[in-house]
Amino acid sequence: MTKSAVIIVGAGHAGFQLAASLRQNGFAERIALINDEGHLPYQRPPLSKAYLKGTGGPDSLMFRPSKFYQDNTIELTTDRAIAIDRVARKVELASGALLDYGHLVFATGARNRLLDIPNAELESVRYLRTLDESEALRQVITPGKRVVVIGAGFIGLEFAATARAKGLEVDVVELATRVMARAVTAEISEFSQSRHTAAGIRIHLGVQVTGIEADGAKVVGVSLSNGTHIPTDLVVVGVGVLPNVELAAGAGLPVASGIIVDEYLATADPHVSAIGDCALYTSKRFGGSLRLESVQNATDHARCVASRLTGKTEVYDGMPWFWSDQGPDKLQMAGLTTGYDRVVVRGDRAQGQFSAFCYKGDRLLGIESVNRAGDHMFGRRLLGAGGSITPEQAADPSFDLKSALR
Ligand SMILES: Cc1cc2nc3c(=O)[nH]c(=O)nc-3n(C[C@H](O)[C@H](O)[C@H](O)COP(=O)(O)OP(=O)(O)OC[C@H]3O[C@@H](n4cnc5c(N)ncnc54)[C@H](O)[C@@H]3O)c2cc1C
Repeated sequence: MTKSAVIIVGAGHAGFQLAASLRQNGFAERIALINDEGHLPYQRPPLSKAYLKGTGGPDSLMFRPSKFYQDNTIELTTDRAIAIDRVARKVELASGALLDYGHLVFATGARNRLLDIPNAELESVRYLRTLDESEALRQVITPGKRVVVIGAGFIGLEFAATARAKGLEVDVVELATRVMARAVTAEISEFSQSRHTAAGIRIHLGVQVTGIEADGAKVVGVSLSNGTHIPTDLVVVGVGVLPNVELAAGAGLPVASGIIVDEYLATADPHVSAIGDCALYTSKRFGGSLRLESVQNATDHARCVASRLTGKTEVYDGMPWFWSDQGPDKLQMAGLTTGYDRVVVRGDRAQGQFSAFCYKGDRLLGIESVNRAGDHMFGRRLLGAGGSITPEQAADPSFDLKSALR
């Protein structure tokens, strides 16, 4: 490995895209992609959606077959990076190998936040982030079983909808007073809750799980802070993630709620960058620091760093967007709605096709859509170009959104 090599630690959405984009941009030096999972790099979103339902095998998740890595001379190494020597510019792998780098990129992603109560270590208390975890869950979600989902965020609700559709008895327990409270407006939360409830999912809000009861090694129920007891066979925990920053911190790089990078996604060391879920980046567009967890963020970060490493340095300026499939409903978010003070609904809530346009004053911050792909695509284009429409225009069904893009 030469000093001009790019070493990418982590082969998730961000790491894979960086390797692919470097080659697309004509980068001719060595690329090593360090992958600590025993699979070819794969997509995570289907793990709580189609894959969990039983659609396709592991191959259906892979970004590219193994031939792609050979054809593009991307050295895909199944190993774990355990230490970085920034002075000698070397990465140490668990196998003992030492790799020289010209540029090092942390694409280490995030890991499940673990539940810290007695019995949480039992086999029937599960998480959902990796292919192995989804595969194992796929085997046990059989009709008639009972499951308690802890956390009504995107992943918890996607899992709950899939499990219910497969004929399980599903309870969802959430500490906040509405579902997806940290991510979406009350309009979307209320709609989503009503859809899940109509599908037969019991949602418990404003309470937390205080205990997991077991009979030997077998989970038999959970207790809630309001005194309720729910008998169950399985517990699925979706209480968020922790960014994988320890390797960077161990190398003396500044970290906070992510690996700290500037508006170019570069760390304090000019030979090291960080991208994707692990990166806390300076956003010129929004002001301040952001750490996002989405495919858009991971892949756009990767493309930005690939451009920089192939001679075209540009500020990272991606417009965030996200989606979540929950039962029959497609939720799509464009923009960042933090700090909104007004919501205008467009579309037909009763028909399950509407969007929440979020404003701060008269400025459109973002659009959250339910089964309204057109509004979502409009939002991505308008907000990406720095545009806005007035709340009155958003509320007026006769206002032609496309006219605002011209
Ligand atoms: C079930 C699920 C559903 C999702 N659904 C959606 C969705 O619908 N829409 C959406 O936009 N986003 C979704 N996301 C989020 C999205 O998948 C993540 O934001 C994205 O995967 C982040 O990519 P990443 O490459 O930054 O990190 P990751 O995908 O976490 O990849 C990081 C990789 O680095 C590896 N790694 C860490 N440390 C080391 C080390 N020291 N050495 C070697 N390897 C290491 C990790 O094991 C991992 O394989 C979902 C996530 C999950 C888990």
